[in-house]
Amino acid sequence: MRSHRKGVGYASACALLLGFCGVIWGQGGRSPFEPVVVETPWGQHVVPSLETYIDIQTYEHLTPGQEWSAGEPIATKLREEYRAGRLKLRRYPWRITESVYALGRDNMEQQIYLLDTGQGLLLIDPSFDAWQDDILGEIRQLGYDPSQVKWVLLTHCHIDHSQSCHTWHERKAMIVVGDADAHAVESGNSLVATWVEPEAQRHFTPSGVDLRVYDGDVLHFGKVTLHAIWTPGHTPGAICYYLYLNGKHILISGDIVLHNGRHAWMGNPYADWGQYLNSVEKLANFALDGKAIQFDILLPGHGTVDMDNAQRSVEETVKIVRNIVARRGSGEKLDWINPYAWNWGQGIAYQRPN
Ligand SMILES: [Zn+2]
Repeated sequence: MRSHRKGVGYASACALLLGFCGVIWGQGGRSPFEPVVVETPWGQHVVPSLETYIDIQTYEHLTPGQEWSAGEPIATKLREEYRAGRLKLRRYPWRITESVYALGRDNMEQQIYLLDTGQGLLLIDPSFDAWQDDILGEIRQLGYDPSQVKWVLLTHCHIDHSQSCHTWHERKAMIVVGDADAHAVESGNSLVATWVEPEAQRHFTPSGVDLRVYDGDVLHFGKVTLHAIWTPGHTPGAICYYLYLNGKHILISGDIVLHNGRHAWMGNPYADWGQYLNSVEKLANFALDGKAIQFDILLPGHGTVDMDNAQRSVEETVKIVRNIVARRGSGEKLDWINPYAWNWGQGIAYQRPN
């Protein structure tokens, strides 16, 4: 099922407000776990969060010369439509590619992933204590039992990713964390940032860590092989993982790279912009055995999932982080850029490929 959009303007706002616009497959439901996929103005296929969906629609409905803020009525309307159940976006759990699933709570920014390795389940960033009943339910919905989770991998120690680790450690799953973030998980020190997520209620139960990961480590989980890429800056021990599965180059990016150049939250006292810029450049230039890798699928810690051309999100993040670092270097107090608004402000127009 594919709906075409051409020459979008305010005239097509009624279609937009019914939520048809941009949704190109998934509504028919080939399986109960198929996602709702949307095409971006530059022809990339993504499974968007509500906020990204709003950004995409805003991008397409503004006309050159308008300020980004002129899209606020569109945003308000779409939020209403979503709340009323008329705008269909992804529902959890959903299938990303064969044996890879996204878990979580509808329209929450937090992303949790489950991989069936053929010899046990690998759970990535299990998130909040308060979500675990939902997560256990979603694992069962997919036809598995939570006792099949053999490994829990953290992209980094922040509480929104790691709070429930201790419950999985009690269930005898092996906890895998980047070396420089491991002590935070074991001790619950301030690096886990207990204050940052209301959902976490400022409470962190320390967890045992069974395996510390270093740059370049190659980890085998059943039939799945992950390559560790140490990417400090957001936290000292943040690790991204590359894997090749079902013919796709997949990047598990934690908070380091998010859709369309959205960057990590850098408001914590341990954040380091210089390290962070090096880390995103390292991802953009990632090579394995001398061969440059162009990422296809982006599995980020938050928000929208890129189903193709994930390399673009990596490169956009480099651009935006470079811009922020340069502006901070000349004294500007800046630690956040919305990538869609930024691109719009740069006057970048896209010709959607046919
Ligand atoms: Zn984080």
